[in-house]
Amino acid sequence: MLETRYTLDTDTGHIAPAVDAAQVKDWDDAYVMHTYARLPVTFVRGRGARLWDADGKEYLDFLAGIAVNGLGHCHPRHVRAIQEQAATLIHTSNLYHTAPQAELAAKLMQISDFDKVFFCNSGAEANEAAIKIARKYGKAHGGAGKYRIVTAERSFHGRTLATVTATAQPKYQEPFAPLVPGFSYVPYNDIGALEAAVTDETCAVLLEPIQGEGGVYPAHKPFLEAARALCDKHQALLIFDEVQCGMGRTGKWWAYQHFGVVPDVMTLSKSLGGGVPIGACLARGDAAETLVPGDPGSTFAGNPLAARAALAVIETIEEEHLLANAHAMGEYLVHRLSEPKLRPKIKDIRAVGLMLGVELVQPDAKRVVREALERGLILNAIGDHILRLLPPLIITKEDVDEAMDVLSAVL
Ligand SMILES: *Cc1c(COP(=O)(O)O)cnc(C)c1O
Repeated sequence: MLETRYTLDTDTGHIAPAVDAAQVKDWDDAYVMHTYARLPVTFVRGRGARLWDADGKEYLDFLAGIAVNGLGHCHPRHVRAIQEQAATLIHTSNLYHTAPQAELAAKLMQISDFDKVFFCNSGAEANEAAIKIARKYGKAHGGAGKYRIVTAERSFHGRTLATVTATAQPKYQEPFAPLVPGFSYVPYNDIGALEAAVTDETCAVLLEPIQGEGGVYPAHKPFLEAARALCDKHQALLIFDEVQCGMGRTGKWWAYQHFGVVPDVMTLSKSLGGGVPIGACLARGDAAETLVPGDPGSTFAGNPLAARAALAVIETIEEEHLLANAHAMGEYLVHRLSEPKLRPKIKDIRAVGLMLGVELVQPDAKRVVREALERGLILNAIGDHILRLLPPLIITKEDVDEAMDVLSAVL
């Protein structure tokens, strides 16, 4: 077995596990299914916006576990809440009441426009629940023929069979056909196409207010307004997938607040638990009353450990004013990216708070990500042209300056 030893870094005073990275890589290659093309780094420790690899090298994390580590790594409040809950009660099943789940539900309602929540463990599961609400709601309001769901091209909604069907990107879908019936797709931000696609047979329109995996594309306000009006006209539910853009990433709790369009159903996951797996499907009005015992369910969903972790995330965002910080640091990032040293290399900057897509002039994104990693900066590439930046909400001006120095050097 892998022997874990601990070493003291005399420079920083941190105690780090000593990990044999070569052994880790060998076992990973041999025994884990290759569903991810991993970069050649083994992380062993994190703190704030920083990570350390098995050699003790430090990295500045501008990806935050793909928008999961909103508080950064091992935030003391988050760690304390998890430790206390782990020592008190981890799991009992959903056959009983537990305090953290009820408290998290109440807290989510307090900071959003919704009435009720269904808890689950991931973004895909949250979207599955939303799809089930829509199908059941459609049947109740328009009969068996009202089951069609419209989603957007370039979207991402997850990898279960129904959510990969909702994900209108052929590369994710083709290996698993035939897909789930009843889905159709429109180009994102195309109001005419949406008007043509939504009919009385539509039970829902499912959209990301800001497309994440597709390359960071914010919706146009009139497109979301049109979606709202069409759903009202045809008695369909408007579902926003805020798995990536929700939970304060954009400088407001929810991306829909930037557009003044409130959906009937909203799905969350990623940074909800700050790294502890949890998902949620929030609904209001009739949509919130659609599901009954036995409809969806999930063994681990909203268990005390995950719910307590999520509560700590929300409380920390409030107490440390991280919405304001996400807004301010997002603006500062755009300002730095717009300086003469960087701007000529950049074709387009798409940013809402700390969700940024930087489209490069050259098809260089993968090289930039690799070389930035070598220099201790973690970024993400979408295709060959787009860099995605999703730093934790706690970053400082100094972090941004450091990241921009690396990016300038690499570009
Ligand atoms: C990541 C993501 C999902 C899927 O979440 P999982 O937890 O991986 O199932 C769904 N929707 C959006 C917008 C996402 O970014």
